[in-house]
Amino acid sequence: MLLQLSTWPDIEQYLKTSQAIVIPIGSTEQHGPTGLIGTDALCAEAVARGVGAATGALVAPVLAVGMAQHHMEFPGSLSLRPTTLIAVIEDLLVGLHRTGFRQFFFVNGHGGNVATLKAAFAQVYWTLTTQGRPAADQVRCQVQNWWAQPRVYQLTRELYGDREGVHATPTEIALTRYLYPDRVKMATLAPLGTTDYAIYTAADFRRRFPDGRMGSDPTLATGEQGQQFYERAVESLTARYRAFIQDATGRPPDSEPLAPPSPG
Ligand SMILES: [Zn+2]
Repeated sequence: MLLQLSTWPDIEQYLKTSQAIVIPIGSTEQHGPTGLIGTDALCAEAVARGVGAATGALVAPVLAVGMAQHHMEFPGSLSLRPTTLIAVIEDLLVGLHRTGFRQFFFVNGHGGNVATLKAAFAQVYWTLTTQGRPAADQVRCQVQNWWAQPRVYQLTRELYGDREGVHATPTEIALTRYLYPDRVKMATLAPLGTTDYAIYTAADFRRRFPDGRMGSDPTLATGEQGQQFYERAVESLTARYRAFIQDATGRPPDSEPLAPPSPG
């Protein structure tokens, strides 16, 4: 159930059976010379919609711009400051809480969002509880990274090994090739450079990662692989969403087990 394709009476009815919402969040930032700038938002949106279809959960519009300051030396990249992103999340969640939402399940497509998202959750708990909002103690927020689910990561290791890298990875490029088969460019890419993946300023990033990739070989990615990643991500996050909402409402955990820990 997509929020943007619903009416307000639809949402009022939904809230009688669930107080949870799935919120996809990504980023709009360079993904190397061949990857789509929208990769992180497109992937999070697709996986979140898959979870919504599997569970009946309401899915919000994707938050397509995240915290990507280190990519800003590449044209086309967009970013919010960390403090701005915290304010955006706070405004959205406090507003949703006002009409009855209590559980906020973020499907994330960008590693650079995680620290800011967790700070935003603390800000939301602070605001709702100190302002004495109704049922503020029932509010729960969670973020799950689609690519980091154990069964997804297991496939990543099998297919790409050390050529996965950490940015513009074949895993995420494969998913976009599955979703948008005609859009992702394929080209021979220069050999990989440094494996020191520390992140500082945008200018430093471009100097050390001149074509935007960080240790990755996206030429390995195929749409067929992308479909496998999509199916594994949706399956894993469906289980996590079910466990999240049942725990939050005090019911016993779902009988469907979570994926095992990362195989490393
Ligand atoms: Zn990405």
